Amino acid sequence: MTRFVPHYVGGKPLESTGGRVADVFDPSTGAVQARVPLATADEVRAAIDDAAAAQPAWAATSPQKRARVMMRFVELAHQNMDELARLLSSEHGKTFEDAKGDVIRGLDVIEFCIGAPHLLKGEYSAEVGTGIDVYSMRQPLGVVAGITPFNFPAMIPLWKAGPALASGNAFVLKPSERDPSVPVRLAELFREAGLPAGVLNVVHGDKEAVDTILTDPRIQAVGFVGSTPIAEYIYATATANGKRAQCFGGAKNHLVIMPDADLDQAADALIGAGFGSAGERCMAISVAVPVGQETADALVAKLTERIGRLRVGPGSQDDVDYGPLVTAAAKARVEGLIQEGVDAGASLVTDGRGLVVSGHESGFYLGPTLFDHVTTDMSIYREEIFGPVLSVVRAADYEEALALASDNPYGNGVGIFTRDGDAARDFAARVNVGMVGVNVPIPVPIAHFTFGGWKASGFGDLNQHGADGFRFYTKTKTVTSRWPSGIREGASFVMPSTT
Ligand code: NAD
Repeated sequence: MTRFVPHYVGGKPLESTGGRVADVFDPSTGAVQARVPLATADEVRAAIDDAAAAQPAWAATSPQKRARVMMRFVELAHQNMDELARLLSSEHGKTFEDAKGDVIRGLDVIEFCIGAPHLLKGEYSAEVGTGIDVYSMRQPLGVVAGITPFNFPAMIPLWKAGPALASGNAFVLKPSERDPSVPVRLAELFREAGLPAGVLNVVHGDKEAVDTILTDPRIQAVGFVGSTPIAEYIYATATANGKRAQCFGGAKNHLVIMPDADLDQAADALIGAGFGSAGERCMAISVAVPVGQETADALVAKLTERIGRLRVGPGSQDDVDYGPLVTAAAKARVEGLIQEGVDAGASLVTDGRGLVVSGHESGFYLGPTLFDHVTTDMSIYREEIFGPVLSVVRAADYEEALALASDNPYGNGVGIFTRDGDAARDFAARVNVGMVGVNVPIPVPIAHFTFGGWKASGFGDLNQHGADGFRFYTKTKTVTSRWPSGIREGASFVMPSTT
């Protein structure tokens, strides 16, 4: 019997009545393991009804009590960690340990949200004029929404829902339809942790569900993460409908390797950041930029040797470095791009196509692929591949490497490996990219900082999590008060000022 993944609305699982469904695969075998409903506009509106009904009481709950729900949720998520990671790995394909990392990086942000009482504190100035005090408060927006990608089915929903809920909003989550089960489990655990029914709703779906969220006047803000064309569409449509929007898109992350770098360290970093999670990370390194011919030759040799030792297989197996891609379509797309690289004249050092994992012949596996002598006009350089493919673009000197990363249309993450502090400082200051790693290949900022790319990697003016997460999901109210006499002097027709 096929398993059906329900929506989660009004504090309980909800079967869909719409009729349209999508397959959820087990990428390690290629088999369909479940079906997920694609919500109708009416179903989404019903979830928004529930959220709108539940929100005022949640907003009136003290921030400290809301924070305690977050605390209990973190505890419950840890108690259920193995189950969550197994479920996540079985629908996404990433390894069990990597799936745990997906959940834990999400929980980091929920732990940060436990500080909501402090983060929601306003400002206060006494005596700005005679007998006049001014203070500000942060208030929730109302009902807000998150639309999230397949590649971090726990972390990104938690990055969105955590600050929104801790601030007193009700939240409607539209997760990826490709790995929908973990978001539902997270909503169940929030409920078990004490979140009132209706405050967090999960509706599955595609464009119809998304467009309903983008146009319903009750939704005040939309947080999106996914590919750049959809991010642009969501940003334009949400803002045209009067909503706040923060939309994070695709990436093409470069790692610059200076001649003085420890090349073994750099090669290890590139292997993990390029091929981990089958390259399906927005912070994956997909472009290695060695500076100078000698560095490039030595680096490519070290990478080739390490690639030979990589183990690809089902994410549930302990001895595997990375698992399959998420769907057959994703695999076919990456294979097509590899062929385009070959046709464009890049040197194919290792070819991951045709990999067969014994016992899992129908799984969506792709071996590690390394291209050398890639140039900026090739599609393998211009497009986000989102697969286990690393391209080496050789730079003659530091300035050329810096310009390459800065001029790329994407600006999510970038790294530099060097032993020279001056080069590292200069690079961090000048590179036109939102998140920078110095001898760190995947510079995902910790929860109390903020996460966000620049250029085609991010639309909107506030980042995710950290203080920005709370700013995005709250509005500031400023109160000017005068006590106790009232306006004894009668009406004033002059603009008040402090002079
Ligand atoms: P995607 O854009 O295909 O889907 C993201 C979400 O949008 C999903 O919920 C999906 O159902 C919805 N969607 C898809 N097509 C739509 C349409 N036509 N209209 C309305 N909604 C639509 O992205 P994905 O394949 O799930 O995720 C991978 C992408 O996400 C990569 O590009 C990756 O770089 C990016 N990503 C970015 C970040 C970041 O922080 N910048 C983080 C993770 C992933």
